[in-house]
Amino acid sequence: MKAVVIGSGIGGLLTSSFLAKNGYEVTVLEKAPYTGGRFTNLDYKGFGLSTGAFHMLPHGEDGPLAHLLKLLGAKVTIVNSNPKGMIFYEGETFHYREGWKYLNWRERIKAMKLLADVKRNKLPEGEEAGMSGREWIREKIGNNEFVDLFIKSFLGWADSVLDVPAGELAREIKAALKWGGPGLVKGGCKAVTDELARITEESGGKVLTRKRVVEIDPEAKMVFTSDGDELNYDILVSNVGIKETVELIGKDNFDRDYLKRVDSLRPSEGIKYNVALKGESRIGNTVVFTLDTERINGYNEPSSISPELAREGHTLIMLHHALQSRNVKAEQRRGIEDLYRIFPNLDEEGEILLIQTYLDGNPVNRVASGQSVEDFPIQDVYIVGDAYKPSGGIEVEGIALGVMETLEKLGLGSFEKWYL
Ligand code: AMP
Repeated sequence: MKAVVIGSGIGGLLTSSFLAKNGYEVTVLEKAPYTGGRFTNLDYKGFGLSTGAFHMLPHGEDGPLAHLLKLLGAKVTIVNSNPKGMIFYEGETFHYREGWKYLNWRERIKAMKLLADVKRNKLPEGEEAGMSGREWIREKIGNNEFVDLFIKSFLGWADSVLDVPAGELAREIKAALKWGGPGLVKGGCKAVTDELARITEESGGKVLTRKRVVEIDPEAKMVFTSDGDELNYDILVSNVGIKETVELIGKDNFDRDYLKRVDSLRPSEGIKYNVALKGESRIGNTVVFTLDTERINGYNEPSSISPELAREGHTLIMLHHALQSRNVKAEQRRGIEDLYRIFPNLDEEGEILLIQTYLDGNPVNRVASGQSVEDFPIQDVYIVGDAYKPSGGIEVEGIALGVMETLEKLGLGSFEKWYL
């Protein structure tokens, strides 16, 4: 059986690894000169920045991505964050548990009940599932400013949007209760995608860079590249988004309703700030949710477990926020103001290395969390990656859950216990 995988992002490489290990004759076609897509490292001024992700897995060693990596025997080290999170509020940075003090006893009881309900799968349904997640929390717990700011910064950090439907938020909370908090990857994102490319190749697959797919013929089951290669497939896995895959196949192969549906899918967009600070690690292996800020939603410190990601004598901080308007300059200006709120002595202690904006053709997520995506309507074509994340799956964990579904459809495993 021949499998062609378009795009070598983490979704593409996870799938190619499983297919190759299961005896498929796999070819991965990647248009860039490097593999990994938005999940690899970007060397910059002696620092190991990233092309997209934060060198962190939302559920660390115990999440769906770590599970798939284990099944593949991937040699990567993930270290769970401790504490799972911190909070920056009223000028202080503290352990997330201390946040309970901002809830009165009534709100605490309601919050505990909500968490218990979510844990035992009592999730919002019907109309309630579609309402604003933040409004849902207000209805359940009360109008508490701290709680709302916390949810907002959590969503901005995790999903790069400032609200999601209640059904999605509830599942993300359920996921955090089941699998715990985040974890950093030793060596950064590249350690994962390089290992997956290695596994694919070790199992007989080919991973080809500088190969741009320009057309798919679903009748003939052929893929064409810009430099004239023609590849025949039994199954085709696309890691390049739904809209892009539809374009490659040609819109006339789809009915109008499906095209309308695809057109209505919205991406999530955001800005990442890479900051170098002199001296030792500042916060360690954790994530700080920033509540006292205009734009920044959170930050982490990948060099805390991987000193090689920072230049000698420095530490690397990555901060992120969801894009709130199309005025990118103004967004960055406000983001930078926040950097000085968080690190008041930034000019003496370090520098802003690089600001990366993710929008349009290079968004944070091609399909923002909370939108449901049906099966791709062309036979033997499967979508993986950030355009196909089942509900509750944050970032790469969502990508892993989507890959699990694809593997199940192909009869290559059973992952029921992972579904939220
Ligand atoms: P990601 O951006 O991490 O989801 O990964 C998607 C990957 O697909 C990136 O590495 C892109 O360079 C690659 N890609 C996008 N479009 C094409 C295409 N038409 N042919 C081959 N690779 C592509």
